[in-house]
Amino acid sequence: MTDPAAKPLRLYDNFSRTLREFAPLAQDGPVGLYTCGPTVYDFQHIGNYRTFMFEDTLKRVLRWNGYRVLHVMNITDVGHLTSDADTGEDKMEKGARRTGRTAWEIAALYTRAFQEDVAMLNIEPPDVLPRATDHIPEQIEFIADLERRGFTYRTADGVYFDTSRQPDYGFLARLDRAGLEGGKRVELGDKRNATDFALWKLSPPDSTRQMEWDSPWGKGFPGWHIECSAMAQKYLGDYFDIHCGGEDHIPVHHTNEIAQTEARIGTRLANFWMHGYFLVQNDAKMAKSAGEFLRVAALVDRGYDPLAFRYLCLTGHYRTQLNFTWEALDAAATGLARMRTTLHALPTDADAVADADALAQFATHVNDDLNTPRALALAWDVLRGDLPAGVRRATILRFDDVFGLGLAGWKPTQEAVPDAVSALAQARADARKAKQWAEADRLRSELHAAGWEMEDRADGYSLKRRS
Ligand code: AMP
Ligand code: ZN
Repeated sequence: MTDPAAKPLRLYDNFSRTLREFAPLAQDGPVGLYTCGPTVYDFQHIGNYRTFMFEDTLKRVLRWNGYRVLHVMNITDVGHLTSDADTGEDKMEKGARRTGRTAWEIAALYTRAFQEDVAMLNIEPPDVLPRATDHIPEQIEFIADLERRGFTYRTADGVYFDTSRQPDYGFLARLDRAGLEGGKRVELGDKRNATDFALWKLSPPDSTRQMEWDSPWGKGFPGWHIECSAMAQKYLGDYFDIHCGGEDHIPVHHTNEIAQTEARIGTRLANFWMHGYFLVQNDAKMAKSAGEFLRVAALVDRGYDPLAFRYLCLTGHYRTQLNFTWEALDAAATGLARMRTTLHALPTDADAVADADALAQFATHVNDDLNTPRALALAWDVLRGDLPAGVRRATILRFDDVFGLGLAGWKPTQEAVPDAVSALAQARADARKAKQWAEADRLRSELHAAGWEMEDRADGYSLKRRS
């Protein structure tokens, strides 16, 4: 349980736009957490993983506070169109054309790739990972219910949600509905209002889609938003604790999930609505549609440990955008390497326990809306501080329950010593033997400059990387 000296958990809820103290809805049940998952038409980019890591951190902080978490993340394998305005192609069908495989094959391929990346980043898999295509009956039932309640209308190409039926539609995003209607910035087509959105799209009359299903309205496929409302309700109930996604979900996807659930059940689906802010590159959006995008595999190809990217993400607060640069990743890789080697150098003391004050301070930081930058800074203070070595070690390992940097399992790899470094070390050993102290010091500085440290021992010397 939480240390009494620590502050209670407060999280920023985008629905109320306030920091609120978290209290679970069910006294003894798990905390219900729904996070919007990947659209599996392509690989995920490292921006997507920033959001997934923020959600993983949230889960770990909830656990730190003593809660059990029931985490549901969907796999979007149908219905996510290339445009949020319900026009454009289904991303899955487009991905199938791009790769020359079937939509079903690419869904399986990119779901697997996603799971591999998640493992490399030490993100805990969700408890339930439902696919939209496995929940078509639930979505049809949801839409039929909305129709019975008078929230829908039909057009030539599908069934739409009538947002004019909800006076508070768009509250999450504080949408200016009058402005949207007046400006007509959105291509209306057969839609009655700019903010209306598709619940069911009919297959085009002149072609066969790879993914399509019979429905009371004709052959077709569900809209993207209905999948999350339907699956969240199925696995977490009518009103659960926390719903997350990236910041781009605020104005459309989550706004529409809330609208649907509000219309069917009368709740806003989740008590807290939390959003991870974007990873950007040169201050531009990192988007798959832009063609080139960075994958976790690209980091590995360049010799980075994927957890260096996790460390980088921890250095920024999830509610501010983070600019990705290779220099920033280098700095994070150095930070992680130092943290690992410093921790590894501390002796293991089976009797040592984590320091209570440090744990309380840590809880205060992470309970302050997941302030991981402060928590990381504290970890460095503890590592370099004057607590007994075993206590430092035990404390940092507890912190890592939240960081997820896999510190306990890390082992130094035996690194090959470059020839030039060996030669310098031998020259220094010779200089010492010959009592040429100035020369020995000079050679040691050269070794340091090359990033190596020499430890003199009775039987000779050893070499290790400088931490
Ligand atoms: P998608 O696969 O496009 O459905 O996105 C998966 C998740 O990544 C969603 O929660 C998005 O909001 C989020 N996301 C998309 N782009 C970025 C980005 N550049 N930085 C952080 N999160 C993102
Ligand atoms: Zn969603």
